[in-house]
Amino acid sequence: MRPFADRISQIIPSASMAFAQKVIEKENSGRKIIDLTWGQPDFDTPEHIKNAAWKAIQSGRNGYTTSAGIPELRTAIADFYNSRYQVSYNPQNEILVTPGAKQGLIYLMQALINPGDEVILFEPCWLSYRDMILLNNGLPRFIPAGKELAPDLSGLEKTINSKTKAILINNPVNPSGYVFKKSELAHIARIAERNDLYIISDEIYDRIVFTEFISLSEFKNLRDRLIIVNGFSKAYAMTGWRIGYLLGSEKVISKVSLIHQHTATCAAAPSQYAALAALKGSQDSVDTMVKTYKERRDLMINGLAGSSFSIVAPDGTFYAMLDVSTLGARAGGNAENLLGRCGIASVDGISYGKSAGNYVRLSLTKDKEQLAEAIERLKKEEKL
Ligand code: PMP
Repeated sequence: MRPFADRISQIIPSASMAFAQKVIEKENSGRKIIDLTWGQPDFDTPEHIKNAAWKAIQSGRNGYTTSAGIPELRTAIADFYNSRYQVSYNPQNEILVTPGAKQGLIYLMQALINPGDEVILFEPCWLSYRDMILLNNGLPRFIPAGKELAPDLSGLEKTINSKTKAILINNPVNPSGYVFKKSELAHIARIAERNDLYIISDEIYDRIVFTEFISLSEFKNLRDRLIIVNGFSKAYAMTGWRIGYLLGSEKVISKVSLIHQHTATCAAAPSQYAALAALKGSQDSVDTMVKTYKERRDLMINGLAGSSFSIVAPDGTFYAMLDVSTLGARAGGNAENLLGRCGIASVDGISYGKSAGNYVRLSLTKDKEQLAEAIERLKKEEKL
């Protein structure tokens, strides 16, 4: 047979999905595993959102929609940004509803990257960015993490060269839960302007924050070069609905829309009506979920205080990076080591960049009893 395209040979399977098989094997051998790998809420989608989708299905809204998304949803997204961040995006031509934030990101890579173009990323960063860039024959340029896994902004300007196309930030950060400060965002904005670069800001965890959060969209002078990526998966526990969106200048959104028109056509119609209900309805369930994530975060931090394990305290997301040096950290072997010794499934830090090699990512998407059990298991192992 003739060979596959070169680009596919560079792609690696998602670490959490690959690790799932090992977890199953361990469970089959009789050990109760505390699975903290999956990056999805352990809550169900709120009732009023499910009902809105059901109503849409029953009333026959099951065909293709306008490619950019139903106008009511685009307006609701614009209103949401207006009230939360005091910025205005025109629902007619500056918002594109996508089948998940992931799809929005890959559209952006397709629209922006020429072969050999570079995209700058701060370690530790979500693993799919690398593969999305490579799939489009671009080159990810990683800046190693600074102290306590914070992004090292001092490395930014020297990483830029004539091939650099964009800076991609994730705020808050999956996996560390880091929330960028205003001065850091301003620094990134200045450098992007000085070097005429795009900025992609993936803000899918913007609602799951335990501190002040500033969206890059609030920097009004960035409009021409900034694209915001967001979605409903995390804040509204809607991972399976596959619904997200992009915000950007009309120039960028019109290009990205061409890819969307020829690939997905539109996001699933019932999911769009569900997303509309999510934005328009009560936000109490979001508040409850965020409160729960914060309690779990505090439980982990307090529970491990005084032990030889340390957690980088996340200011957002439902993740936490655990330093496992105390178990004899081995970059690439940490998750397996932790699974074997404590029966805790996690994602290896190395998946998020070399500078996270001493860590594993824990997804705090299990109830407090299971997290307390995880703490006990870790402490017991420490004594051995
Ligand atoms: N960006 C980040 C940083 C994520 O962690 C995820 C989900 N793991 C996504 C984007 C994808 O979100 P969606 O479900 O909307 O495709």
